[in-house]
Amino acid sequence: MLIDGKEISKKILKEISNDLYKISKNLGRPPSLSIILVGNNSASETYVKAKIKACNQIGIKGELIRFDVNVQSKALMDEIDKLNNNSDIDGILLQLPVPKNLNERELIEHINPLKDVDGLTAENIGLLNSGSPRFIPATPYGIMEIFNRIGITLPGKKVVIIGRSNIVGRPLFSLMSGKGENSNSTVTLCHRYTKNLTEFTLQADIIIVAVGSANILDGSMVKEGAIIIDVGINRVEDKSKKSGYRLIGDVDFKTANKKASYITPVPGGVGPMTITMLMKNVCNAASEVK
Ligand code: NAP
Repeated sequence: MLIDGKEISKKILKEISNDLYKISKNLGRPPSLSIILVGNNSASETYVKAKIKACNQIGIKGELIRFDVNVQSKALMDEIDKLNNNSDIDGILLQLPVPKNLNERELIEHINPLKDVDGLTAENIGLLNSGSPRFIPATPYGIMEIFNRIGITLPGKKVVIIGRSNIVGRPLFSLMSGKGENSNSTVTLCHRYTKNLTEFTLQADIIIVAVGSANILDGSMVKEGAIIIDVGINRVEDKSKKSGYRLIGDVDFKTANKKASYITPVPGGVGPMTITMLMKNVCNAASEVK
């Protein structure tokens, strides 16, 4: 069965808009998100545009702050300081990746953890890993919400996550293997050095793929009835499209769909959930005392 991320997102956005009304009334202004974008990587441009659009649609004040690709770290730190000290700013997001000459970790750590709506500062990673999350990174948050909303129970399930990034694989490992209400799975985290990936995936009740490489998982690697969550976004040439490309995931959908009990499409699966849960994090940030 296809998991319709767009439909689930719509429901959550409706709930958020009720919260937003109350939060805005309390604050005397709408919640706000500032996104810092360095350079003009075309994928980042697309993601940032979608985030700002979502803000505008639900009544969050979304602001995009652009920097040239050659910007020095000091200028970015100064901007982050300004946003940290501005009580009208609730959420700060540094769009990743930043150009290679910049120290991504140092910049992230400069963000006030109470405004770190991506949940990437060491403090927020620590809180998540210790079982008391403040801001859950939006993609893992969205995936957990998919499980909850469609009634997939995690306790005791065998899970394989492929990909161990700080924004997807690692936080998801922590959430799914944690002691939360719908958690307590037995999780294996696979990566580039994993030998015989198929040995792991064939055992899994749930497979989450977050690699960035098309067709890394196909039907022959999947147990009958498994649940498949495809996080990957890959551009493939498509002359029939105005843009010249279309988006596909990491999973060979055709073959995997024949085996899966549930599967997320790309686009329309995890992507919309990510944006929606970011909105939720901004609302949560606006409700925190800073
Ligand atoms: P990332 O930081 O590049 O991490 C990719 C991970 O995949 C790494 O852990 C890497 O292993 C692992 N990997 C690479 N080749 C592999 C292989 N052959 N076998 C097993 N593991 C392999 O990527 P990311 O930021 O997590 O993003 C992953 C994908 O998800 C991308 O396509 C991205 O665009 C997409 N994404 C989508 C959303 C959404 O909302 N839908 C959100 C975030 C990301 P090593 O650690 O060993 O290098």
